[in-house]
Amino acid sequence: MAYRNIVKIGDPVLSKKSRKVDKFDDRLGILLDDMAETMYQAQGAGLSAVQVGILKRACVVDVGDGLLELINPEVIDAQGEQFEQEGCLSIPGECGVTMRPAVVKVKAQTRTGKWVIYKAEGLKARCFCHEIDHMDGILFTERITETPEAAEEAGG
Ligand code: ZN
Repeated sequence: MAYRNIVKIGDPVLSKKSRKVDKFDDRLGILLDDMAETMYQAQGAGLSAVQVGILKRACVVDVGDGLLELINPEVIDAQGEQFEQEGCLSIPGECGVTMRPAVVKVKAQTRTGKWVIYKAEGLKARCFCHEIDHMDGILFTERITETPEAAEEAGG
C-alpha cells in the first residue's frame, strides 16, 4: 500500500466526470488499497479515485464502522433530507452546510465485480452522496445551503 497525493481544489481534474470501471483486476485492487491508506492518513471519512487523479468511478468510505469500497456506485433510492456540516479532503479548511437525503440505497460493485446493495443513513448517506458527486465532477461547495432554521431566522 502506498500513500497517494490528494488533488486539491483548483485542479481541473476535480470537475471532470469519472469513467465506469470495467476491469476488475489487480490494478484496481492496488488503487483501492492506496486510496484507503490515503484516506486514513488524511483522517477523512471518504475518498474518491478522482481525488488521487484517477478518473474511475470508485471510492472508499469509512465512517467508523469499517472500510467500504464502492465501484460504479449508483443511488437507487433516496428518502427525506438532512442538513449537516460537510468538508472535503480536496478543500482543506473549508466546510459548509449541505442538504443530502436522510436515507439512501446505493447499488455498487465490489473489487471483484459483484453487485451489492447498501442502505445508509446519517453520516454514511452523506458520504456516499458526496463521493458519488465527486465521480460526476461536483464538489460539496456547489451544494452549500442554509439550514432551514437559519433561513427562518433570516426571515425566509
Ligand atoms: Zn470530497
